Amino acid sequence: MRIGVLSLQGAVEPHFQKLRDLGVTPVEIKLEKDLSDIQGIILPGGESTTMLHMLDRNSLYSPLQKFVKERPSWGVCAGAILLAEKVSHPSQKSFGALPITIERNAFGRQVDSFISALESDRSDWQGLEGIFIRAPRIRDLGPGVKILLRWKEEPVLVEHGNTLAGTFHPELSKGHTLHRYFLDKCSPNGREIS
Ligand code: GLN
Repeated sequence: MRIGVLSLQGAVEPHFQKLRDLGVTPVEIKLEKDLSDIQGIILPGGESTTMLHMLDRNSLYSPLQKFVKERPSWGVCAGAILLAEKVSHPSQKSFGALPITIERNAFGRQVDSFISALESDRSDWQGLEGIFIRAPRIRDLGPGVKILLRWKEEPVLVEHGNTLAGTFHPELSKGHTLHRYFLDKCSPNGREIS
């Protein structure tokens, strides 16, 4: 299996490592042609405004929007901001791949970054570590959006069809639970090792 990681800016390499650990081939996505032979894509954390500039510069915005609306996609932090239907504080353009409103930098500044245990209805996910770095907050959920992980009652990982969006950085924690979950969404008939 080949999984893309948007590689314009941000925390790309830790996702590459998690994917390699799980026996799949990570693929750098920088240009439209890179999208042609992948089964899913991770949009990593970083700075969503910088990523938007680079997406425009590389003529990747529209092809990537089409991809994330149709195929398995996982947005992490800035990546979740790119996937959202609506972005606030301040508002900026976004792909609209899942019906959520997300508020940027909603915990405050860099110094307000934190690590905390998360809660889930799944017993095997209970207590997963959440690393929040200038994180956004998911403010509104549209119909059909499922909450997979919470921090103090509020959603921090949500799912809508093929799409996952989370506000913390699992690629910086130990373990592979969420990467494995995403890979299963990319290959519903069982994971083939590339
Ligand atoms: N603050 C960043 C943004 O608004 C997101 C931070 C992150 O990805 N860790 O795009």
